Amino acid sequence: MSEKRLEGRVALVTGASRGIGYAVAKALAAEGAQIIATARTTGALEQLDDEIRSAGGQCTLVPLDLMDPEGIEKLAGVIAERWGKLDILVCNAGVLGQITPAHQITAKTWNEVLGVNTIVPARFIRAFEALLRASDAGRALFTSSGASTSRRAYWAAYSASKAALDALVQSWAKELEDCALTANLVDPGATRTKMRAKAAPGEDPETLPHPDEVAPLFVELALPSETRNGEIVKFERG
Ligand code: NDP
Repeated sequence: MSEKRLEGRVALVTGASRGIGYAVAKALAAEGAQIIATARTTGALEQLDDEIRSAGGQCTLVPLDLMDPEGIEKLAGVIAERWGKLDILVCNAGVLGQITPAHQITAKTWNEVLGVNTIVPARFIRAFEALLRASDAGRALFTSSGASTSRRAYWAAYSASKAALDALVQSWAKELEDCALTANLVDPGATRTKMRAKAAPGEDPETLPHPDEVAPLFVELALPSETRNGEIVKFERG
């Protein structure tokens, strides 16, 4: 096999228990990165760990509900102690909420959708910027969506959360112009996952790209040689 492009790099992936995050964690590990994988579903994280280890990679599991702000701070503390830096952050965990008329969106849904999709990434920026700056080429990636710019009836909460995420990350990226750390957004497009099945129940999933097809774009953006900053990079099916 050719030389691994992320050997020696430490990568934290959120939403790693299934879907896009699971595929991205595997793809980064296959390039030699040490993976720190987080989500709530322990069994699914253990399956990821097995897959990565049986392919010769390295993985550390951190079961965590991201709605717990203290958990994010503690995780940053553990990574600081063990590695003293973070090379790659893939802030990917997301929730869809209810697809429903705007006036019917409950406070609980707003809290969860804006919480996981927008506030959690803001907390990651707060907790991890110093560790990402300690890397010689820190790469922060955030999973956005076409819904951040398209305006569709019944998608108000999810769309608002992803539009705010774009604004958050692109504003932060402007603060990074003088350093080795970059921050970009990835729009994966419709992908064959549990979230997409909930969003579009009538659709044939086989028509959609599998997460393993989308993951190489994240790897490319995580490379130390990558120079883009503050962009929304869309996955295009080859
Ligand atoms: P899935 O529903 O398959 O996976 C979502 C992931 O987020 C799971 O690993 C889940 O883990 C994790 N997660 C959700 N809430 C929490 C929480 N409170 N604490 C910790 N982890 C949490 O979705 P996808 O893989 O499809 O989505 C990944 C990203 O891609 C999301 O940001 C989504 O908005 C975005 N996206 C997806 C598209 C698609 O078509 N699939 C299109 C455009 C964007 P667990 O439940 O184990 O905690």
